[in-house]
Amino acid sequence: MTGPIPVLPTRGDAVLTNLRLVDGVDPTPQDGLAVVVRDGVIADIVAAHDAPTDGVGGVIDLGGAHVMPGLINMHTHFSLSLPGAGGDAVSALDPHELALYMADGARRTLLSGATTVRCVAEKGGADFALRRAIEAGRVPGPRIFTAGRGLCCTGGHGHDTDDTLECDGADAFARGVRSQIRAGADLIKIMISGGIAGEHEQITTPQLTRDEMAAAISTAHSWGRKVTAHAGPAAIIAEAVELGLDCVEHGYELTPDVARSMAERGVSLVPTLVVTRAGAFFDDLGVPAWMQERSLGAGPRHMESYRYALEAGVDVLLGSDMPPFWDFEGTSAVVRELEHMQAGGLAAPDVVRAATAAPARWLDADDRVGTVQTGRFADLIAMPGDPTAGVDALRGIDFVMKGGVVVRDDEGRAR
Ligand SMILES: [Zn+2]
Repeated sequence: MTGPIPVLPTRGDAVLTNLRLVDGVDPTPQDGLAVVVRDGVIADIVAAHDAPTDGVGGVIDLGGAHVMPGLINMHTHFSLSLPGAGGDAVSALDPHELALYMADGARRTLLSGATTVRCVAEKGGADFALRRAIEAGRVPGPRIFTAGRGLCCTGGHGHDTDDTLECDGADAFARGVRSQIRAGADLIKIMISGGIAGEHEQITTPQLTRDEMAAAISTAHSWGRKVTAHAGPAAIIAEAVELGLDCVEHGYELTPDVARSMAERGVSLVPTLVVTRAGAFFDDLGVPAWMQERSLGAGPRHMESYRYALEAGVDVLLGSDMPPFWDFEGTSAVVRELEHMQAGGLAAPDVVRAATAAPARWLDADDRVGTVQTGRFADLIAMPGDPTAGVDALRGIDFVMKGGVVVRDDEGRAR
């Protein structure tokens, strides 16, 4: 031993050269640039021939790869447990095993290219411990913004696992919001309707009263937290939007009118299209037939709903719901979601934006993440193909950097 054993590095220095830059702002790639990273942050973007070579922690020749901001996945559950054998195994983990299981998911999420995630219901407060461990360099993982536990009514969506808190009545919802903020929540998640995974409900079941939604939203806003809602049917979404909701998850059954009202009020949609196209994933987890049928049966209406949102100009954001890294249909769940977003009518450069700059803005973190610009964290991914020409290029992600530290390098470019 010659000195103390360090934690994982959380900030690095480097100069990235020989790349095509997809910065998350400009819709087309830019050539002839180099990205200078100091202490984890993009210090400068310079003409390639002006790139410094001394005292910069190493020059990384990316071999002409496309470099873009790391993905921001706005709908993640590291402690996801769906009905069925796979989910039962997660639910049976004791708190120590659960924390380690979630740490493994965080590591794999980062390697899949998601350098920031928004957790929207996690079990037992383990997400707050995980976030602290990642920030301290004890375990690898993405930057985490979390809602803590989701708030549902008694017997409501997600009630059967520890990632929700059952509340009834306006006072209980206000208390629920405060309790998650006390635990460290960056945002609040409310379950306003049924969904796919609830045995005793339908997607169309409204679950919160107007008073309950109003109390949750106004309390969260008073404390400076945004609110997102798990939501299926149009009527209750319309009501929540009117009450000041900031984001809709899934939005299985939007109508053109409700989509317009979301666009007018600046309410985002995280469509999670993959959850109604996830047969292979459900097979992996052994989910029961009723849930498979409900999920896949909702697919066409879900896609129609997404198209209404696009037509109305709603800001749509990447969210996989499935573990982002899950090996799914020849790629990862997060890339498959991006492909569905493009297939549903969003042009590739706009899908890139929906996976980077737009989520960063929702999180009020666009001064730190979501674009390749001076002053942002050096959270970057690289791939041979051009993602602005087609997001299937993301199937080729072979390099991931977080805070200037190379965490994945399949081609050995940083060696
Ligand atoms: Zn979810």
